[in-house]
Amino acid sequence: MASLSEAELAANFADIAPPLTSDAALLEANKCLFCHDAPCTLACPTHIDVPAFIKKIASGNLRGSARVILDVNPFGHSCARACPVEVLCEGACVLNDRDEQPIKIALLQRHATDRVLEHKWKLFEPGKPTGKRVAVIGAGPAGLACARDRRRAGHAATVFEAKSQPGGLNTYGIAEYKLKADVALAEVQDILDLGVELKLGVMIKSIEPLLKEFDAVFVGVGLGGTKKLGIPGEDLPGVVDALTFIEHLKTHPYKETRVGRSVVVIGAGNTAIDAVTQAKRLGAASATIVYRRGEDDMPAYDYEYDLAKKDGCGFRFNAAPQRIVGNGAVAGLE
Ligand code: SF4
Repeated sequence: MASLSEAELAANFADIAPPLTSDAALLEANKCLFCHDAPCTLACPTHIDVPAFIKKIASGNLRGSARVILDVNPFGHSCARACPVEVLCEGACVLNDRDEQPIKIALLQRHATDRVLEHKWKLFEPGKPTGKRVAVIGAGPAGLACARDRRRAGHAATVFEAKSQPGGLNTYGIAEYKLKADVALAEVQDILDLGVELKLGVMIKSIEPLLKEFDAVFVGVGLGGTKKLGIPGEDLPGVVDALTFIEHLKTHPYKETRVGRSVVVIGAGNTAIDAVTQAKRLGAASATIVYRRGEDDMPAYDYEYDLAKKDGCGFRFNAAPQRIVGNGAVAGLE
């Protein structure tokens, strides 16, 4: 179990990018050039009108700013904390070409959208009822975004979720120091308040009954289970998949998540980085990524690699695991 004190754990899992003060946000917003063909907007997968929402912050209209963001992206709160902005909007900001720091788009987005939760602003209304009914399978970001937009179009929407809480990856799978479950759940509540019906703890086994009862069915069930390694020893106690580890950490007091003294994470993608850094922040004496290819081949982003190194995590490249060894519990990796 983690040997760190409550205070150390709270510090280790505090926001990695703390919010801007009002003055700092105003100053940052006024640095934006409000580009006409804004490359930041093009680089955003949801095409948020970045200069428009920043301009509204600069003029003190935070409600209007949040509306610009959340109109096209109902997960504007989560994305402000969890998006890899270094390779998206901020990476595309024209200020990079002048060897200047890019505009802090994520923090500005957070500044505007946090006010929505703080003041419980209701920015959107359900549309005029159409009499149509839509079933959504899965209460993750895809399913809930679909449900919200169907409500705005006037259709009834019912979301079925197997887990006990909605939000999917945002609630259960994003590193704790980036996004806390209570923010993800507050964001979901905003969507439910539009009149979306949510049925938790319901596993849909067949789509046929839904097709009879509803006018349309949206399937947003996520990526499914983690792949097995297919090497001996992976069922030994002490071997866990990264998403199960992260989910436990996010749904229990920090002290209750078990972490070994010496932790090895196999793989070098985004989730592997989230797992290795959180193992270290929970108190593992050593936490090491083992990756079968080289440093340049890692799917993790450069800033994630830097973060893991700053956290004191180790990396072993060109090392393919052959078997996990141990007698009754994991003791090593060959
Ligand atoms: Fe502002 Fe940078 Fe976007 Fe231009 S590219 S609008 S400067 S954030």
